Amino acid sequence: MKSINPWNQEIIFEREASSNEEIEESIQSLNASFGQWRSSPIIQRCSFILGLAASLKKNKSKWAELMTLEMGKPLSQAEGEIDKCIWLCEHHAKHAPRYLADELIETGAKKAMVRHQALGVIFAVMPWNYPFWQVFRAAVPAILAGNTFLLKHASNVSACSEALEDAFNVEGFPSLFKSIFISGKDAPEIVEDPRIKGVTLTGSLKAGSSIAKTAAELIKPSLLELGGSNAMIITESADFSKSIELAIQGRFQNNGQSCIAVKRLLVHERFYERTKLEIEKALRDMTLGDPMNNPDLGPMAREDLAEELEEQCRSSISSGAQALFEIKRDKAHFWPNALFDCKPGMKCFDEELFGPVLTVTPFSSFDEAIELSNHGPFGLGVSIMCENPEDYLPACSKLAEGAVFFNAFVKSDPNLPFGGVKTSGYGRELGKEGILSFVNKQTIVIE
Ligand code: NAP
Repeated sequence: MKSINPWNQEIIFEREASSNEEIEESIQSLNASFGQWRSSPIIQRCSFILGLAASLKKNKSKWAELMTLEMGKPLSQAEGEIDKCIWLCEHHAKHAPRYLADELIETGAKKAMVRHQALGVIFAVMPWNYPFWQVFRAAVPAILAGNTFLLKHASNVSACSEALEDAFNVEGFPSLFKSIFISGKDAPEIVEDPRIKGVTLTGSLKAGSSIAKTAAELIKPSLLELGGSNAMIITESADFSKSIELAIQGRFQNNGQSCIAVKRLLVHERFYERTKLEIEKALRDMTLGDPMNNPDLGPMAREDLAEELEEQCRSSISSGAQALFEIKRDKAHFWPNALFDCKPGMKCFDEELFGPVLTVTPFSSFDEAIELSNHGPFGLGVSIMCENPEDYLPACSKLAEGAVFFNAFVKSDPNLPFGGVKTSGYGRELGKEGILSFVNKQTIVIE
């Protein structure tokens, strides 16, 4: 397993893939810990999570630097990612006792309730774009619910994967989290192990469907957080300047590599010409540089991903999209750009652009905007920029999306369930729904 710094192509980390014996040892130790952890008092589980938060605080600079070196996000954004993990831990340590409490239900019986029972070792296949956050968001709720957690991280962030195992190794607690180092194609085999009781994957459709297929054959619960191509709809009544500011931030943060980024900007025709001018101004000022020095944009995480983005842009241009600037790429360095006059049928509209390119499409009525937003295989989220959000609430039922945000771009928040519909996946992370993803909801009745 090799990590290559996408800014300068230096190899920064190398290790052998895990041997069968190492994988067996990891699953065995997690399964053994599960035996006692599942029935440990919730207060003890919360204190584990607070120990984890303390370790994040102590090692923030070191781990933020590691993320930046391995996948190229600007250092201040990597530090922000660690802060978000701390927030997640603190939120869950406070609310887990309530989220996981027995639920009493009125029936004709003396007593009826639902109890939340942990399942066992949960296997997670994770992506490189938020190397800490994605793992924390899956692992913290699963462990708090009484499960243990086996991670197979993306191969290009293997150093982060090792650091994550260190982070979750909290003194005074059993082994609750292990990392293994295998390639994606070998991941479905791990699901077959009888000690694995559930699987969660964040990543592409191809990876998700291969894991989910194996899980389905073996009747194991699975949760999928896959791609997205979120629209931001700038309605006629929107605050235009604020909308453009949020669209730029929502598209280009994390070097444009976020599942919930604003990928398609749908603009009321009234604003269309102004949109071109404002986006051009914003992108001309944007800096691309060494992510350790905090430019607006670092490189994309891998050269092959930048190549794929270039191909999607060039194909869209040959189908009629108008590029704001000439497409410019050097290895993993991809200069920010925007494509105008984008339409269904073009790759930039039908597929996910996972990098620093914003697509822009005009519309003339809100019904047309809804149709455009719903177009395509994804359903992660949408934002609507408008003057009176309450007036638009009835329209939410027409949007096939996991989330609708008004006057903001879609964000994840430990308080709120997060997930998609259509090929963006199924199941929910975060909030009460998230912590209940890998539990048996056991019905108990006393007659
Ligand atoms: P990816 O290629 O699917 O990789 C994700 C993980 O899946 C990696 O650990 C990878 O391992 C593994 N994998 C690859 N092929 C596999 C297979 N056939 N079976 C099982 N596992 C396999 O995705 P990515 O390029 O890293 O991530 C980008 C995608 O993730 C985008 O579509 C993005 O929108 C999505 N994403 C979604 C969310 C969400 O919350 N919905 C969040 C972040 C990202 P290797 O690295 O070893 O190949």
